[in-house]
Amino acid sequence: MKPKGKILIVDDEPLNVKLMKANLLSGRYQTISAFSGEEALEKVESDSPDLILLDIMMPGMNGYEVTERLKNNPATRDIPIILITALDGSDNKIKGLESGADEFLNKPVNMAELLARVKSLLRLKQYQDQLKMHRDSKELLTRPFQGNAKPNDNIDLPSILLVEDDEKDAQLIQMQLYGQPYSMKVVKTGEEALSCAQQEKIDLIILDILLPGMDGFEVSRQLKGNERTNSIQIVAVTNLKDMEDKIKGLELGVDDYLVKPINIHELRARINALIKKKAYLDKLKTGYESAVHSAITDRLTGLYNSAYFHYFLKNEIKRSERYNNPVALVMMDIDDFKHYNDSMGHLAGDEILRQLGRLINQDIREIDLGVRYGGEEFAIVMPYTDLKGVITSTKRIRRLIKDHSFILDAFPPARLTISMGIAVYPSDAVTITDLIQRADTALYGAKKSGKDTICILDDKSDAQPISAFLK
Ligand code: GH3
Ligand code: MG
Ligand code: MG
Ligand code: MG
Repeated sequence: MKPKGKILIVDDEPLNVKLMKANLLSGRYQTISAFSGEEALEKVESDSPDLILLDIMMPGMNGYEVTERLKNNPATRDIPIILITALDGSDNKIKGLESGADEFLNKPVNMAELLARVKSLLRLKQYQDQLKMHRDSKELLTRPFQGNAKPNDNIDLPSILLVEDDEKDAQLIQMQLYGQPYSMKVVKTGEEALSCAQQEKIDLIILDILLPGMDGFEVSRQLKGNERTNSIQIVAVTNLKDMEDKIKGLELGVDDYLVKPINIHELRARINALIKKKAYLDKLKTGYESAVHSAITDRLTGLYNSAYFHYFLKNEIKRSERYNNPVALVMMDIDDFKHYNDSMGHLAGDEILRQLGRLINQDIREIDLGVRYGGEEFAIVMPYTDLKGVITSTKRIRRLIKDHSFILDAFPPARLTISMGIAVYPSDAVTITDLIQRADTALYGAKKSGKDTICILDDKSDAQPISAFLK
């Protein structure tokens, strides 16, 4: 399986490097190492890592200086840095924050915590990159529309909801955040938290895990499972020493966690990072709704159009070359759509296309791109997705569509099926044209082999059902 991200480990003590390396490899990350600050800067230049684990105390250039250099350079400032400190004093954390580091870990490094932090920072970086790309592409594709675009900069203070049943703990956190640029509200139960998140604009929730009634994990699960609330950032707060529980939290969609008693600097650092992430997500969303965006979306379905598809895919492939992650492409076509059109009319056909677009969009990840390629043909670009991943996703999508009742005026609910063709970059194709062609040929193969199936081309460019690729 392909590695998930390239991580530079910097420590003057070779044993520390070795230890972290072993753990990151078990998490399927690719690692490179440097044993001094100077070497770290060279490696950043030559290897473009996605994230840096950086020891503070090193002879020669120390971790703070390295951080400062990287964060002051536009070419490297987006690379997340985790500073690793042997000293537990908070002055060091402040100094680290000032130098621009994104996170801290104390030595001895707890490996479960290390993996959790790496994972959440890489995810943040992904959103950042994505946003940058959307922004660039909008500029490129919508130049004639610039006159209509009105910048939307009504800036509200970020709002934080604190969910804590213990009055003393609640007061303590409020005190720690006093004077910070957030608005803050406090509730005592999970039920209250859910209703508040539904009704108000909340950016971040500080969530006690142990609550009377519904516990924090359940609250988080419900918030993340709902489209209206799933971009709210959640920091879980827990007394539990057990790392297993924290990891369970991250798996459930909690974005970060803190252990009681809470360190004030850590609390502020985490909140700032998550608020930043929320702002990226919001920009992606409002960008999607803005007038500017209409030039790159399809009017009927709200999915992206084929012009943007080509642009997006080109960029994803460039990124893939750089970071060595796979990109999956799915082409799909409704089976026998002409029949629906002929029997129910074009308006009903349009409504089916609209509903199908919605289904696809709801099912794919935020970083995926759902496209109406033309007529009754659709495409999905899935960055960071290998063959196994795309097989799982397409199976799920096929099922979802097959089981869905399309509700239409004056007609009984309709069922339809789709055929799909898959190709993965770079294992199946090395150019964009080739990638699209292979997915297309695979789709054609799916049609020929009886429709309602998913196909991939094998080594001999013959279309095979995906079952042939499942080992
Ligand atoms: P196959 O299973 O081989 O894909 O058969 P099919 O009938 O789906 O494919 P064919 O290419 O023969 O016909 C596609 C039909 O899709 C023809 C056209 O009426 C319909 N169609 C294409 N675009 C639109 C649209 O925007 N709205 C509506 N209502 N129908 C459309
Ligand atoms: Mg050291
Ligand atoms: Mg067609
Ligand atoms: Mg068709």
